[in-house]
Amino acid sequence: MAKEQLTPMMVQYMNTKDEYPDCILFYRLGDFYEMFFDDAIKASKVLEITLTGKDCGMKERAPMCGVPFHSASSYIAKLIDKGFKVAICEQTEDPKLAKGIVKREVIRVITPGTIVDEALLDDRNNNYLALVCMVNEKFGIAVSDVSTGEIYTTEVSSADMTMNEIARYEPREILLNSEAAKEISEEIELRFHITPDTNSDEFFSAPDMEGRILRQFNKQSLSELNIGGKTALIRAVGAMLGYMEHTQKTGLSYINTLTAYEVDMYMDIDLSTRRNLEITETMRDKARRGSLLWVLDKTKTSMGARLLKQWVEKPLVNPIEINKRLYSVKELTDNVMLRDELTMILSDTYDISRIISRLSLATANPRDLVALKATITKLPELEMALSAAASPILKGITKDFDILADVRELLDTALSDEPPINLKDGGVIKSGFNDEVDTLRSAMKDGKQWLASLESRERERTGISKLKVGYNKVFGYYIEVTKSNIKDVPETYIRRQTLANCERYITPELKELENTILGASERITVIEAKLFDEVRQSVVAQIKRLKRAANIIAVTDVLCSLAEVAYKNNYTMPEITEPGVLEITEGRHPVVEKMSRDSLFVPNDTRLNTDDDRVLIITGPNMAGKSTYMRQTALITLMAQIGSFVPAKSAKIGVVDRIFTRVGASDDISSGQSTFMLEMTEVSNILKNATKNSLIILDEIGRGTSTFDGLSIAWAVVEYIQSKKKLGAKTLFATHYHELIALEDKLGGVKNYSIAVKKRGDEITFLRKIVRGGTDDSYGIEVAALAGVPHEVILGAKRILKKIENDEISTAGKTEKKPAQESGQIGLADSAANEIAEELRRMDVTTLTPIEAMNTLYRLASMAKEIQ
Ligand code: ADP
Ligand code: MG
Repeated sequence: MAKEQLTPMMVQYMNTKDEYPDCILFYRLGDFYEMFFDDAIKASKVLEITLTGKDCGMKERAPMCGVPFHSASSYIAKLIDKGFKVAICEQTEDPKLAKGIVKREVIRVITPGTIVDEALLDDRNNNYLALVCMVNEKFGIAVSDVSTGEIYTTEVSSADMTMNEIARYEPREILLNSEAAKEISEEIELRFHITPDTNSDEFFSAPDMEGRILRQFNKQSLSELNIGGKTALIRAVGAMLGYMEHTQKTGLSYINTLTAYEVDMYMDIDLSTRRNLEITETMRDKARRGSLLWVLDKTKTSMGARLLKQWVEKPLVNPIEINKRLYSVKELTDNVMLRDELTMILSDTYDISRIISRLSLATANPRDLVALKATITKLPELEMALSAAASPILKGITKDFDILADVRELLDTALSDEPPINLKDGGVIKSGFNDEVDTLRSAMKDGKQWLASLESRERERTGISKLKVGYNKVFGYYIEVTKSNIKDVPETYIRRQTLANCERYITPELKELENTILGASERITVIEAKLFDEVRQSVVAQIKRLKRAANIIAVTDVLCSLAEVAYKNNYTMPEITEPGVLEITEGRHPVVEKMSRDSLFVPNDTRLNTDDDRVLIITGPNMAGKSTYMRQTALITLMAQIGSFVPAKSAKIGVVDRIFTRVGASDDISSGQSTFMLEMTEVSNILKNATKNSLIILDEIGRGTSTFDGLSIAWAVVEYIQSKKKLGAKTLFATHYHELIALEDKLGGVKNYSIAVKKRGDEITFLRKIVRGGTDDSYGIEVAALAGVPHEVILGAKRILKKIENDEISTAGKTEKKPAQESGQIGLADSAANEIAEELRRMDVTTLTPIEAMNTLYRLASMAKEIQ
């Protein structure tokens, strides 16, 4: 488009838009934000607002749509939600003073991962932005919540690890440098359903990143930040700071702590395990209700809620650190009075983490400061209550407890107790704080009195008893006289306005008063804004101290929440040991026991170790409780490493480095992808990445393919995991392949378990009790009956099963008697025989080692046996 033809305003618009091509540009015009051209077309659809046009100097009008500035938040939210970025372009000079076109500038770019507006954020969740920079086979990861100023960073050596790390945070926005994009861009779209930004290399290759980082965190060397020599990480963090500056446009002084960590400081939980275990949301509906977090979260503050989620997403592996948390939870569980007192205090605090950020970014309103004051006011009480505590964390945070008395004093003297949300509405600064404000205020107040006395004086002087002083926006103050009294109006009155039954006048004296009064109110707005900003800056200067207070509140809240949950749900304190054993007595599933109100949850024991009880093969009919049992073991382990008490009578937990779970294809409701392929990819991932200190949950793997393939795979997987040389990880393996029961006698460390079922006549009852020994009865028809399949069909099924057992049904389903060796389960015998034949045909006997030959023979023989 040729800019010469455009109107000057449109030229300004186009120039601004050129700088922000990937954003929807909100261009401030009076009381509206207007959008033009493609932006207008896109936005009008998403926002369901009318698309109009504006003369722009060209033949055709520019497509245009707009939203009122005072309700822009909700529109921005909608656009952000749909994945758009919004650039806010404001008038940066007073239109009255502008010569020519009013200056405008983009003052902020809002993207899904950089939101700071309270209205667009979820209180109880962090809002993360993640950057990944790949350099020389290393992946540097930087994650930040701009609204709280947290920034985390680590460096890993593979794409898989990067994905797992990102999964901890569930970022809303992801930026990748082009090398990283090649490796994980597709995977990110597939797994997290967001399109990563892969066109921002300029941020990743900005000059002097080290200097930028050192200045930001006020350090002399990178080693002080524990990031020395980590090129990929440094570039990710540097790019993060650059991108934040690009979006926020203002001081990032509140981002003053960089948390650099090694991935092995936390339990590794891959993405599908997170989903399977329903740690923060359910698989089916993505709901919080029904997740582990839902059970654990009884926090009273948003800061606590967010911190608890972080703990849940990053379970610890260091027994000492875990015990610190556990002993603090124990103290609060035992000391009900202390817990009650603390929760009462916490209930009266506000989200100062986010307030601090808004203060720093200068978007805070007067009420934010009042909320800050209210929170600081609670600190002495909090200190008092905590001084009674003896457990490690609680004691730790009371050391050098800073009640921020000076900040409170400042806020208290400077701000009125109930200021308006909007600074412009006036009355934000408390009287007594600033002389000029006080003088002007009294001028305004006296002015009103002067007006009243002027009115009565004029009445007396003119003898017009109904004479009135009034005010309107156009004429300012005036004297009003009804038509019937006009004859008595003095000559000195100057007429300004004639209405139906009255006339309005001014006098020089009145105008002078007006100047004092209106001048004062204008001046006061300016001074109040200036003072507010000074107060804001003094508070911002204390950010480190404020952050510490925020942290005390959050940590106390999380510990109280865990204690309350432990107390109410009858949890027990786990004993944490070095890696090795998992011994759970009368364990329960924390979520299932809460969800099933009508029936009592049946507790079960778990015993796993690195010796005789490495791999537990769990059999039992559908619906018996296999999946629940295995998940409960994983969840109890996870809870313990978070620092939570656990639903069990007692538990000894040797810390595990990773938890893996894989649920067989047909059980996996969430993914619509080629399930068998996915299943096998994940199994391979487990076998490659697990260590002997990992906990593996395999739930009916192999289901997605033919029986014999599936069985062989399951069999081989158990062999591999069981082998101490290869892996030797603690494993729970539920299977419908009863053949695997045989492994207990063949392989060391394998134990059979099943979930007991009572059969009386045709009816079965699930006992939900795990017992030693395998079962080969699947009670499929009985389960179908329980599920309410019509009686007729059940009878039919029984009849057919009988016939199959008596070899009366062939694989083709025709009713004819066949020789015994040809029949078996429907459809299986033929294909199995074919499979064996095919394998023999393909086999190159001359290249087989003796052991391979033995193994193959063994496998084929067991397949042949199944046909019998
Ligand atoms: P499976 O994996 O053997 O098919 P599930 O673990 O899915 O069985 O359990 C089926 C249902 O049985 C669960 O939804 C749960 O409501 C119930 N259940 C499982 N274990 C228990 C238990 N120990 N106590 C009470 N109910 C249980
Ligand atoms: Mg199951």
